[in-house]
Order: sequence, then structure tokens, then C-alpha cells
Amino acid sequence: MGKILCILYSGGEAAEQEPRLLGTIENQLGLTDWLKEAGHEFVVSDDKEGPDSEFQKHIVDAEILITTPFHPGYLTRDLIEKAKNLKICITAGVGSDHIDLNAAVEKGIEVLEVSGSNVVSVAEHVVMSILLLVRNFVPAHEMIERGDWQVSQVARNAFDLEGKVVGTIGAGRIGYRVLQRLKPFDCKELLYYDYAALPEKAAQEVGCRRVADLKDFVSQCDVVAVNCPLHEGTKGLVNAELLKHFKKGAWLVNTARGAICDKDAVAAALKSGQINGYAGDVWNVQPAPKDHAWRTMKNPLGGGNGMVPHYSGTTLDAQARYAAGAKEILENYLHDKPQNPANVIVGKKGYETKAYGQRTMSLLTPSESIAFN
Ligand code: NAD
Repeated sequence: MGKILCILYSGGEAAEQEPRLLGTIENQLGLTDWLKEAGHEFVVSDDKEGPDSEFQKHIVDAEILITTPFHPGYLTRDLIEKAKNLKICITAGVGSDHIDLNAAVEKGIEVLEVSGSNVVSVAEHVVMSILLLVRNFVPAHEMIERGDWQVSQVARNAFDLEGKVVGTIGAGRIGYRVLQRLKPFDCKELLYYDYAALPEKAAQEVGCRRVADLKDFVSQCDVVAVNCPLHEGTKGLVNAELLKHFKKGAWLVNTARGAICDKDAVAAALKSGQINGYAGDVWNVQPAPKDHAWRTMKNPLGGGNGMVPHYSGTTLDAQARYAAGAKEILENYLHDKPQNPANVIVGKKGYETKAYGQRTMSLLTPSESIAFN
């Protein structure tokens, strides 16, 4: 029986006290007893960086790799070359950009994720982040903790979401749920930018409008939320050039992937006031280094930073769903049963999703997953 390698984050004391923290090395997605009883070698570690890491040591003969986007084991092309037995990568969560998907396609390695498992969790976080930026919540709370009380200092940069134009880059499962949740806020307009159009009925239900050109799109938005996967077409998509086309003082929320936004360009745009706020939970490298600019960047009024560690999609509710989903994918693989097509990013014959960039459709099977579902 092949080796199963699983890279998760260390949960420490919290994971010992809270067994529902399933995505940790302590609680091992709840898979340990089941896999050990079936006689599998199951290696679980959080040690993922560098040639001497457990990840790089075990990947050379692992048949199955389980990873999570929250503490990504970066499976580069080089490592894929070395992983001679690797057949399948399972992402416990949503977002498999930490795997070189093109290299996986070339080597016939399948990549599956638990589609939909945390999309509500993230959509709720996006709405929260939009509100905390627009209403200038963080500086107001910090003022209270400091023992100060100066209403005008925070009110001078606080607004209502009502009447603003909000747009999402990517209107798949998360982006669409964000639009749905924003509907009752009576925004001036809800916009989206996506190469895949929403079904007409879905667009009508939330009352959103598609904008085909990205610069045109951002120039119309008071708030831009990034909700597309990271792939070669979205890396650095929000860069210094695009930020020039934002409305001055717009707010930007990114819970998709850190590398979609250029780190230095975002920090500079916030510092200059070109954007009024940036919030999210995803970073270009995870864990983010202590001196990462996004930890402390501020707008000219000393606010506008709503950054947190990568946790929007790992609420306890989400962990239960993605742990169950990862087990189901594993079970299907081990018993040679068909996989749910919505979970397949890379199948035996190549890409089976349209969400990771516009590719030659011949690579897609007839059961291609439809991102909107
Ligand atoms: P999805 O596949 O349902 O939707 C993605 C949408 O993005 C699709 O409609 C696709 O057409 C669109 N898209 C792809 N490339 C684009 C581009 N260049 N420009 C515009 N649109 C583009 O995925 P989802 O479930 O909505 O998740 C989206 C992403 O959110 C994931 O890939 C992941 O990176 C991220 N995510 C983050 C967390 C978190 O905890 N922060 C959790 C889950 C997912």
C-alpha cells in the first residue's frame, strides 16, 4: 500500500483543547484511525520548507499527497519531477495553486479539491472585510483599546456601504455568494469581471452587471473584491498599473490568493491614498514573514488595514466540511470509485475545470466542472 503524505499546520495547545480543529497535525483531518486500521502508512507533518523538510523527504515515494491552502506545501515542478510514485494530490479546502498544476497535467497526476466546502465561510468574511474598511472599524476599535475617545478622528473616514458600487473579480462560487449577500445593502450597483458569464437568471437574481474590460471595471468600483483562483493569468493581476485605474480612495478586499495582488504596489497605493483600504487573509508567502509590508501598511490617516492570517475558509464549520470531503476523495481513490466531477481540477487527461484560466477546451472532459454550481 502506498504512502500517504499529509501537510497541515500545527495547532498547538488550541488543537489539543479543540478537537474540531481538524485541519491540524494534531487532529489529522480525523483520518488517522481509519487509515491505520486499513494498513496505510500515513505521514503527517507541518515541516514543509527546504530540502531537509519532512515534506521534501517523503514526497519522493508518496503515492498520495494531502495538503491544505492554509499552510501550503508548495509542490513545485522540481518536486513533482522527484515524486516518482505520486498519483493524486488532494487539497483539503479550495484553491490548489500551491501545486504546479501544469506540471501535474504533464505527469498525469490528478489534483482534486473539496469544491464548495468553505465558500460561504469566505463570502461572509469578504462582506465583513468590506464593511470594516468602509466603516473604518479597525482604527475605531484600536482607539477604544488605547483608552481614547475622539469620534471625529474615526468618523472622518467612515462611510455607508449603501450607494456604493461594489465589484468582484471572479464570480464563481465565492464571488457570486458575495454578490448575493450584498444585495440587501442597497449598493448603487453590483458588478463582476469574469471570463465566464453568470447564467442570466443568476445575474438577474442579484441584479449584477458584467464588465468585460478590467480597467473599465475597476474604474467604476468603490469596492473591489478579488474572488478568482491564482493561476498564470491572475498572478500580479492587481499591480501598479491597474491600481492607477482604481477610483481614488477605493477599497480593495482579497481573500482569494495573496499573489494576485502585487505586494509592494498595494502597500504603495495604500500609503499614497490611491486606495483607502486593503483587507484580506491571504499572503504571497504563508506563513507571512514578520516584516511583511501588509502587516502594518496604513492609509494617510493611519487606518485602512484589515489583514488577518489565512483563516476565512477555515472556520470550525468549514473544517468539518473539508475534512469529510477530503476523506470522501481519498475513499473514492482507494476503492477505485468515480470522483465527484466538481472536485476535479486536474483529472487523468488534464484540466477538468475552467476556473484555473482559459485553456484549450479539448483538455476538458464532457463532465467538466462548472464553477458557478
Ligand atoms: P470557483 O472555481 O467557483 O470560481 C472561480 C471564478 O473565477 C470562476 O468563475 C472563474 O471563471 C473566475 N476566474 C478565473 N480566472 C479569472 C480571471 N483571470 N479573471 C476573472 N475571473 C476569473 O472558485 P471559488 O470557490 O469561488 O474560489 C475562488 C478562489 O478563492 C479559490 O481558487 C481560492 O484561491 C480562494 N479561496 C480562498 C479561501 C480562503 O480561506 N481565503 C477559501 C476558499 C477559496
